[in-house]
Amino acid sequence: MPDAAPDAFVPGRRSERPFVPPQAAPLPPKPLPEDPPPRLPQVVLRGRAATLRGLAEDAAACRECPIGFHAIQTVWGEGHAQAPLMLVGEQPGDQEDLAGRPFVGPAGRLLDRALAALGWPREKLYVTNAVKHFKYELRGKRRLHKTPGQREAAACLHWLESEIAAVRPQAIVALGATAARSLLGRAVPVMKERGQWLQRDDGTPVLITLHPSALLRLRSPDREQAFEQWLEDLRQAPGP
Ligand code: SF4
Repeated sequence: MPDAAPDAFVPGRRSERPFVPPQAAPLPPKPLPEDPPPRLPQVVLRGRAATLRGLAEDAAACRECPIGFHAIQTVWGEGHAQAPLMLVGEQPGDQEDLAGRPFVGPAGRLLDRALAALGWPREKLYVTNAVKHFKYELRGKRRLHKTPGQREAAACLHWLESEIAAVRPQAIVALGATAARSLLGRAVPVMKERGQWLQRDDGTPVLITLHPSALLRLRSPDREQAFEQWLEDLRQAPGP
């Protein structure tokens, strides 16, 4: 990735107060409520929580759902602190959990390829996930991705809403069903709605498209064709 712009936010880098990954928590997970908490269409940020760094440091200690007890660290968003366009994925993967950065694994490399094709410098965007910890199941020594449940995504929603309130993007791209549900507060049939603009309760337009990991599951040449279709979706968003 090119050097971050002076006002870019990158957790754990270029800061007088280094980002400290969360330590193993001594307490057991709190039971989740039966119903997801209400959506937060508007979040008012005050004090240290008004900065992305303050939010990232608070989120590093979050254990509000069981996922946080098994992942290595919280993976907060990164990019331009006033980015006009925010990209939201599902959750960090294995490599993101190890690195503490979003979209640095295979799906991230595909996203980087798309951004290069679109001429969008990644450091001028803000890239994050709906769920901040990596949910997985162990298969031998391998940690295989597990889709976060609705309750886990609901528990994590206030972090995403806080990021949106801090960055205040003019538009958001929802990469996949989990992101779309968190951003819009309802299930979105991604294959039917892809390439469409929907609107959040706070008025922010949301472009629906696939998560890059969906493309990685395809074989060539289907993958290349799907990549071109994905680019067509993304092209509808205003570039940075
Ligand atoms: S996934 Fe979200 S809500 Fe759950 S522990 Fe991590 S930061 Fe907290």
